[in-house]
Parts: sequence; structure tokens; C-alpha cells
Amino acid sequence: MQEFDTPVLDNHLHLDPDHGRGVEAVKDFARSGGTHLLVVNKPSWLLGHEVETGADFRPVFETTIDVVRGASELLDGRAWPVLGVHPGLVSKLVDDRGFDPEDAHDLMCAGLDTAAEFVRAGDALALKSGRPHYDVTDAVWEASNDVLKHGLELAADCDCALQLHTESTTDLSDVASWADERGLPRERVVKHYAQGHLVGGTPSVMSDRDRLEVAAERGDPFLMETDFIDDPDRPGAVMGPKTVPRRVDWMLEEGYDAAVRNAHVETPALVYDIDTEATLDR
Ligand SMILES: [Zn+2]
Repeated sequence: MQEFDTPVLDNHLHLDPDHGRGVEAVKDFARSGGTHLLVVNKPSWLLGHEVETGADFRPVFETTIDVVRGASELLDGRAWPVLGVHPGLVSKLVDDRGFDPEDAHDLMCAGLDTAAEFVRAGDALALKSGRPHYDVTDAVWEASNDVLKHGLELAADCDCALQLHTESTTDLSDVASWADERGLPRERVVKHYAQGHLVGGTPSVMSDRDRLEVAAERGDPFLMETDFIDDPDRPGAVMGPKTVPRRVDWMLEEGYDAAVRNAHVETPALVYDIDTEATLDR
């Protein structure tokens, strides 16, 4: 059982209690020294839901809220849900179910509206949206950006952060200016699966050593994540739940103490208004 003198937060992972390891993965994280988790709901179609309305997202979100409750009981710190609509849904709707992009946009915005209800009720910490990371038609790209803008608007209205799944880039200036227009502070725009630096938002850096070194050397606000997907059919597809604590161990050995404080105390406070030290119960 590893324990650090600092909170250790994985800013983006998934837990699937029905098909994956669920809280067993949380035990691995906790035993390795992890203390706090932001758990993002799995894409609706991977949980077997063929959504028709915004309300159909409710059971998807409730699955995440339930597993977060179980995770919090196991952690020295706690877990929080992050709820939203995966941007890949647009292609499922348009390519597989015959939606036109405009109708796909409406359904995805309705899903985000449902997620925002949970944030307003205090049952979720932040929202999640984005746009495809693969090539799409202009109409689908435009519809996706309009969904993303709706996400920014909801985040501004709920006074919360918005995690984004986007194309691979280190420049989200376009999104940051849309955030400005809607009154959402740009540090609350969090790019998931990020490189070690980002223009226009806060990077949630994938926890490989090269990327973390870049983030640590720069000293800008950043978060750390694994994007663990908890999918038994794709065991090697992503980093495992022990990765963030292991990388923290390595960073402390390398003398990156300030970067550890940045990613696990200061940036979580800046972005989500959470106190990872006060919520640590040892
Ligand atoms: Zn993810």
C-alpha cells in the first residue's frame, strides 16, 4: 500500500461496473497511492443504450453516479462524476441510424441538458462534450461544433468546467474564444487526452513520461489522466488505473514536486473549485 504526502488525482477515467472491473480498478488505484478520481460516463452506445431523447441519457449518467459512490467509499479522498455526451455519437446517429446532422445535434444537446441537470443538483462536478477526432463531413463538423458551443454555454450557466474530447492538437484557441463569448473562464475548458502543453484551455495530460516532462518543465496549470476505459475486450488499449500514482512517484523522484502540487492541488482548485487536500481523510 503506497501513500504519498500529496493528493493524487486521475482527471479522466471510466468505470463500467456491469462489463468491466468497476470498483476493483479503484482498489488498484488506491493501493498505488491514488486518492481522487474524476469518473466520466462511458459513451451511451457502449452501455447498450440506443438514445432517442435527452431523458434516455439518464440511466447512463446514473450508472456513473452509482459507481462513483462506491469509489468514494474506497478512497482516502473521493471521486466525482463528470457527465456528458461523447462527440462520437454524432457518427453513430448519422452513419448508423440515418439521422441528419441537425437532428443529431438536437439530440446531443438534449443529452447535455440532462447532464447539466445533474450538475445543478450537485450530483456531478463537471460536463463533457467535444468534437470528432477523425475526418467528418463539413455538415457533421459544423453540427459538432454547435454541440460543443452548447456545452460551453451550459458550463457557464452551471458555473462548472467542461471536459472536451477533440482532435489531436495543442491549440484550441477557437474553442477558448467561444468560451470567452459565453462567459466561461477559459481555464475551465479542459482538453482530455492532451499533450504536455495547450493554448486555449487546461490540458489534461496523458500520463506518459514524455508528455509529463513537458508539462512539468513549463509550469502552466495542468492535470493528469489515464483515460482508463474499463473495457474487458480491450485490455491493453489504454493506460491502467495504477498509472497516475506511478507517474507521481516518478515525478517526485525526479524532483518535480512543484508540478505534482500543480496537477493534484492547484489546478483542480482552479478548474473545478475542489479542494483535494481538505477532502483527504487520513
Ligand atoms: Zn475517456
